Amino acid sequence: MAKTFDVGIESLRGNGVALPVAHQAAGRQAGAGGLLPLPLRGGRGSEVAVAPTATAGKSFFLETFGCQMNDHDSEKVAGVLQGRGYHAVESPALADLVLYNTCSIREKAAQKVFARLGDWKTLADGKIIGVLGCLAQQEGEEIFERAPWVSLVCGSASYRKLPELIAQLESGGRRVTGLDLDTDETFETEITRRDNLLRAYITIIEGCDYACSYCVVPHTRGPERSRASEAVLAEARRLAGAGYTEIQLLGQTVNSYRDPSPRGWKFVDLLRAVAAVPGIRRVRFTTSHPNDFHREIVEAIDEVSELCDHVHLPVQSGSTRVLREMLRTYTREEYLQKIEWIRAARRPISITSDIIVGFPGETEADFAETLSLLDTAKYDAIFSFKYSPRPNTSAMHLPDAIPEEEKSRRLAVLNERQRAIQIAANEKLVGQSYEVLVDGCHPARTQWGGRTSCNRLINFTSPHVNLLGEYVQVKVTRAGPNSFAGEHVT
Ligand code: SAM
Ligand code: SF4
Repeated sequence: MAKTFDVGIESLRGNGVALPVAHQAAGRQAGAGGLLPLPLRGGRGSEVAVAPTATAGKSFFLETFGCQMNDHDSEKVAGVLQGRGYHAVESPALADLVLYNTCSIREKAAQKVFARLGDWKTLADGKIIGVLGCLAQQEGEEIFERAPWVSLVCGSASYRKLPELIAQLESGGRRVTGLDLDTDETFETEITRRDNLLRAYITIIEGCDYACSYCVVPHTRGPERSRASEAVLAEARRLAGAGYTEIQLLGQTVNSYRDPSPRGWKFVDLLRAVAAVPGIRRVRFTTSHPNDFHREIVEAIDEVSELCDHVHLPVQSGSTRVLREMLRTYTREEYLQKIEWIRAARRPISITSDIIVGFPGETEADFAETLSLLDTAKYDAIFSFKYSPRPNTSAMHLPDAIPEEEKSRRLAVLNERQRAIQIAANEKLVGQSYEVLVDGCHPARTQWGGRTSCNRLINFTSPHVNLLGEYVQVKVTRAGPNSFAGEHVT
């Protein structure tokens, strides 16, 4: 692998860059929307090896759907394109190459992408339209049937072939595909464009070797592949050198990491080593699979102040019977044991989770177990979903589908119960002070926003005029179910 370097981080001081307090959850556009696009660093721009090819001067538009892994894949795809001489534009109408990095985890996400593709039916003339990511892998060449104006279909397991595929299109190729799942390589790029000013993502493991019966990921992202620890550490050092202080390690099952190099590190070894990189003040990781979540991870968080006190540990259901049907590989009791380890840590660690309601055959009693698990686990937040049957999953043909209205009812009950838990827990935090990394500001610059180490969002007032990118102490003055108000302790 050639030397990797990063572009996109800009000095936060005195450059007039303002971050929005919140960014859209889906359909984010690289180079537009969401976090503001950043100019290349003066000195670093010259490092970008822009090939003097016929593509110089050509433009691209890239829109991203779905999870943080997709966000980061898009940063790498944008880097590949910039390295070939493309520049990002904010509107697809202005672009020579229009790419959608897609999600197919639930049916709605997939429908949204097809709606976007439909927009090009009569307008695609002269443009290259490409579909990347999970939907590309799931639908494959079907996409050419449904949207004949598409010329590139490439799943994430084949991204290492992207430069080659783009070269084929540039030299007049009409239709190209990258749909190979049979790879032991990870997607490493010479250039990664960084779209987040303050938090840098590093993928440490790609794909998934679990086989949860509802989930398309093993089919769309391929088998599990871990990156060599030295490559991860080298990237972390480079990011620290570029001014980043917060790193988020990514993987569908991030804690299943196994170093393929002779070092043979486990996840916790890598976690400790990344936290020890000089200049790094915060290390996050997501998503952890409960099966691979061991006590040593809690011990590491307890011992190493740079490891953020937050664990995202999706449970999916509180019923052991449903967990078995989901092929989740743990019982309710085994899961709750792990929650106990986390709660017993010396410093308070926030815990968040994913929950699916309305899995086929989920009875009222099963659902009641999920509600009671909320009461026991006392999550700081949850991401809740109605079960969505997906192609190429083993649950697709399970009997006893739950009607849509019943799924909606259960989702509302679940969210209401969780909201009450959050209101009660958050009230208790009023009066406490937290270190916040400031990542947003109100245009009038009297109100700022940022995240604590435990990933709580606090909006606060301050007499200071430029706090973006600073670590400041904030005292909580008011608590809502999902965020807090506070004041800068100066
Ligand atoms: N790898 C993570 C794990 O094992 O928990 C999850 C990754 S998945 C991209 C994110 C979440 O989407 C899952 O935790 C699950 O709650 C939800 N999800 C996945 N497939 C789903 C489906 N078919 N219907 C509804 N929600 C689904
Ligand atoms: Fe999907 Fe299960 Fe793999 Fe998570 S662990 S990505 S839910 S198959």
